[in-house]
Amino acid sequence: VVDPRINGIKTRIRVVPNFPQPGIMFQDITTLLLDPKAFKNTVDLFVERYKGKNISVVAGIEARGFIFGPPIALAIGAKFVPLRKPRKLPGEVISEEYILEYGRDCLEMHIGAVESGERALVIDDLIATGGTLCAAIKLLERVGAEVVECACVIELPDLKLYSGESASQTHLHALHS
Ligand code: AMP
Repeated sequence: VVDPRINGIKTRIRVVPNFPQPGIMFQDITTLLLDPKAFKNTVDLFVERYKGKNISVVAGIEARGFIFGPPIALAIGAKFVPLRKPRKLPGEVISEEYILEYGRDCLEMHIGAVESGERALVIDDLIATGGTLCAAIKLLERVGAEVVECACVIELPDLKLYSGESASQTHLHALHS
């Protein structure tokens, strides 16, 4: 049974063809944020899944994981840790590079933000190849945290999850594909 809230969320996500480059069907969640009920339903669905699961860290991926992550963290009583693009965090960091379809990118996390043995949830808006989430998992596992799950609003159907990677057996939870 599909939760009736999911269709309302789905219809609020605008698909913009050929952005930011030809051939990309960009999933725009800013239109979801314009509908307070759909935005709240999105957060609630995650909170219902993760509350009471003893999660102490919600790690959000720049930039759209910074929109969904903090309200989830507050509601489940966890801290929020931003995973940022290079040279944005002012303190000492650890970095994890990953391969994109064209080129490379990198995520960084503040040393000391997450301690060994903590249970973490990773949040982003969308999973395509899984490369970004995989880098996030590696950062958290390098400091000894356990990644309970990665959660996204959208899962692209042509998903090649964690292709060529073996960082983790972490499960993925997406609201819709
Ligand atoms: P990937 O690492 O291939 O799973 O790509 C996921 C990351 O790229 C997420 O941070 C998304 O926000 C972004 N992204 C990739 N493809 C799209 C798309 N079609 N629409 C919106 N965001 C995308």
